[in-house]
Amino acid sequence: MYDTIVIGAGVGGLSSSLLRSLSEKKVLLLEHHSLIGGCSSYFKRGPYSFDVGATTISGMEKGQPLFDFCQRLSIDLPLKKIDPGIVFHLSSGKTLKRFSDDQKWQNELSHIQSTNPKFWNHVHQINKTSWSVLQKLRPFNGMNLDLILKSLDFEVIRLLPYFLMSGEQDLNRFQTPNRELVELVNGINLISAQALSHQIPAFVSAMSLAYPAETYYPIGGMMGVMEFFEKQIKQRGIALKKKITVSEINLRSGHVEVATSKGETFQGQKVICNLTHWALSSLLNGREKIEMIKESEARPEGPAAFTLYFVVKLKEQVSELYQQVHLKHPEIKNYFISFSLPGDSMRAPNGEQTVTISTHVDAKDWKNLSPDDYAQKKTELTEFILSDFKNKFQVEEIKLLTSGTPKTFSHYTKRPDGMVGGLPLLMGDGPWSFFTPILNDPRIMRVGDTVFPGQGWVGVVGGALNLDGILQKS
Ligand SMILES: Cc1cc2nc3c(=O)[nH]c(=O)nc-3n(C[C@H](O)[C@H](O)[C@H](O)COP(=O)(O)OP(=O)(O)OC[C@H]3O[C@@H](n4cnc5c(N)ncnc54)[C@H](O)[C@@H]3O)c2cc1C
Repeated sequence: MYDTIVIGAGVGGLSSSLLRSLSEKKVLLLEHHSLIGGCSSYFKRGPYSFDVGATTISGMEKGQPLFDFCQRLSIDLPLKKIDPGIVFHLSSGKTLKRFSDDQKWQNELSHIQSTNPKFWNHVHQINKTSWSVLQKLRPFNGMNLDLILKSLDFEVIRLLPYFLMSGEQDLNRFQTPNRELVELVNGINLISAQALSHQIPAFVSAMSLAYPAETYYPIGGMMGVMEFFEKQIKQRGIALKKKITVSEINLRSGHVEVATSKGETFQGQKVICNLTHWALSSLLNGREKIEMIKESEARPEGPAAFTLYFVVKLKEQVSELYQQVHLKHPEIKNYFISFSLPGDSMRAPNGEQTVTISTHVDAKDWKNLSPDDYAQKKTELTEFILSDFKNKFQVEEIKLLTSGTPKTFSHYTKRPDGMVGGLPLLMGDGPWSFFTPILNDPRIMRVGDTVFPGQGWVGVVGGALNLDGILQKS
């Protein structure tokens, strides 16, 4: 009988099981794939390692989730700060470097006509207040009296207008937006908030616009971070079982039973599910299943991703590791390039770099295609992105090229239809409206990027801290 069974060793399951191990002796972590990490995992080809999805980490500032998480566990993640955090190639041909230093960033912005520096100061202030408020409100489990009482706080009240207006409306208060600025703002919002500035509340937009100022490169790529996590799991006595696919969760009197596709069963006092809510509903029965289906119907389907992976030899190695290229293309608005750090021997031998390129696509567009149409779409997108990349960088050689589609993500992470990247926090959303980490039956809990209102690692680790806070209080 385990204290907690955690299903899925993505960032949510890893952080939850490590946090649980601080107060519980018997934690079991079950993972479907042969490697941990989920959408933040990696794969190896000879001396090269490739990040499959996530390539950057943020949220390491004091008061932000990754900082709090590392403090609680007394660990230092193997990270290196990258400055400029991201280089933006606008479709007009201009290039802007997102430096950490405010003055340097303002100088870059001056290349875009009529940019009001006050807007970016405002963004940083709202970002700071938002993190402080989220920390104060934690732990929260949907709208209840506790959350209402906590909300009667000066900072929360000051932030209220930015819950109500959109990111676009907030920007318009500072200046008449021009095409380049809108493209830049939407590009950043799309990679971190998963939506455009008119679709999201101003506080979410501000948090997303501020994030590239604090960009971290995982040393050894995600393989470095996942090997670090695996050591921590071992040291803390967590039982990790890979290549185990959970097929059913059954509530029994006094315990929860988790059944696997190989016919094994595990018993625990409670279960933490690191699954999207679409995936979780398929493992449940009875009232819990109905609750999940109702929730799924209330939310739009999530986004999906298309990715390219390859090894590149450039005339001159790139030290600005993260670059976003804006496009005029009917299907994709931009793509995001992540280079491995030159000399990072866990990623590639000297003189070469591994590259992950990712872009948002609509899961629906890929869902009902015939195998031939699917293959054609994949080839066309691969060739388009690769030729654009070759126009931007002086390439000597490209090898081991492969691409990832929604089907690839669905296969390796078991996410229905390959929906990745989490759900956006849309207008009207806040900590009160998103999915509660605890279901009707309090023995079933959930973490991950479709649960907690957040984005990528910061949101997922924030969700794990939130759930752990609730469990500590109960
Ligand atoms: C292309 C791309 C680029 C991104 N870039 C960034 C970035 O740079 N920075 C950032 O912070 N975020 C980024 N993200 C987002 C980030 O990767 C995700 O938000 C995060 O990794 C999600 O973690 P998770 O724990 O919620 O879910 P997942 O990663 O999906 O983890 C769930 C785990 O559960 C396992 N599982 C599923 N079903 C079962 C089952 N039935 N039984 C057992 N195990 C199961 C899966 O195999 C998986 O390991 C990116 C995402 C993508 C797709």
